Amino acid sequence: ISLDGVPMTVLEESYHGMLFLFQDVSDIRRLERMRSEFVANVSHELKTPVAAVQGFAETLLAGGVKDEETARSFLKIIYDEGDRLNRLIGDILDLSKIESRRIQLDYAPVHVLTLFQSVSRVLEGAAEQKRIEIRLNVPEELFIEADEDRLRQIFLNLVGNGVSYTPDGGRIVIKAEEFTDERYDDERIRFSVSDNGIGIPKKDLPRIFERFYRVDKARSRSSGGTGLGLSIVKHLVELHRGTISVESELGVGSTFIVELPILQENP
Ligand code: ADP
Repeated sequence: ISLDGVPMTVLEESYHGMLFLFQDVSDIRRLERMRSEFVANVSHELKTPVAAVQGFAETLLAGGVKDEETARSFLKIIYDEGDRLNRLIGDILDLSKIESRRIQLDYAPVHVLTLFQSVSRVLEGAAEQKRIEIRLNVPEELFIEADEDRLRQIFLNLVGNGVSYTPDGGRIVIKAEEFTDERYDDERIRFSVSDNGIGIPKKDLPRIFERFYRVDKARSRSSGGTGLGLSIVKHLVELHRGTISVESELGVGSTFIVELPILQENP
C-alpha cells in the first residue's frame, strides 16, 4: 500500500494492523491566512501615520512654510499622528499578548459601582465637551471577582466608543444587574452600555469585533480610534469566561451587553 506515493513497509512478521495519521490542515491554513492578513493590516495601519509625519516634516524642513500659523498647524498634525502611532502600537502589542494568552489575570473582588465611577471620571472631559451625560444605574452592593485593570479596560473601551459615536447632547446609560444563568449554572452580572448615538448598520454588526474593522473609517480616525478596541474587549471578556453581544439600530443607538460570572473558577 502506498499513500501519496510513499511506500509503506511491513517491518515485522507479527504485523497485525496499521496506523494512519491524519491531520486536518484546514484549521492550520485558516490560522495562517488570518495571521498574514493581520500583518498586512498592521503594516497598512502603521504606514498611514508614518507617511503623514514624514510628509509634513519634509515640507517644514524644506522651508516652504512661511507663516507661523500654518507651520504650527503642521506641527500639530505631526504631534497627533505620533500620538496615534503610539496608541496603535500599544493596542497591537496588547492584542497580540492577549491572543497568545501571554497575560495572567489577577483575580480579586471588585466593587462594581466604584469601577464605573472611575471609568466615568476618565471619560468625563471628553463627554463634557460634547455635552454627553453618562448615567450610572448600578446597585451599590454589587461585587465581582475579576482582574480590575482588565475590567476597567473593557468598560473604558465600550463607554469611550459610546462617547465617540454619539452626537453632542446625547446620553450613555450604564447598567449592571445580577442574574442566574441556567446555561452555565452560575451567578452572573449582566452589564449594559447603551447610547443614543449613530448606531451600526445591520450588515456590519457581525463584523465589528474583528481586528481593524470599522463601519466608517474616517469617523473612527477622527475620534482617535484604532479599530482594535472591540476585538481587545471581546478577548478580555472571554478570558473572564463571559460573553459579549450588541444590539443596534442605525440613527437610534447601540447597546453592548457583557455577561460575566461573579466568581471565577480557581485554577
Ligand atoms: P474604533 O477604534 O474604530 O472605535 P472599535 O474596535 O472600538 O474601533 O470599534 C469598531 C467599530 O465599531 C467602530 O469603528 C465603529 O464603526 C463601530 N462602533 C463601536 N462602538 C460603537 C457605538 N457605540 N456606536 C456606533 N458604532 C460603534
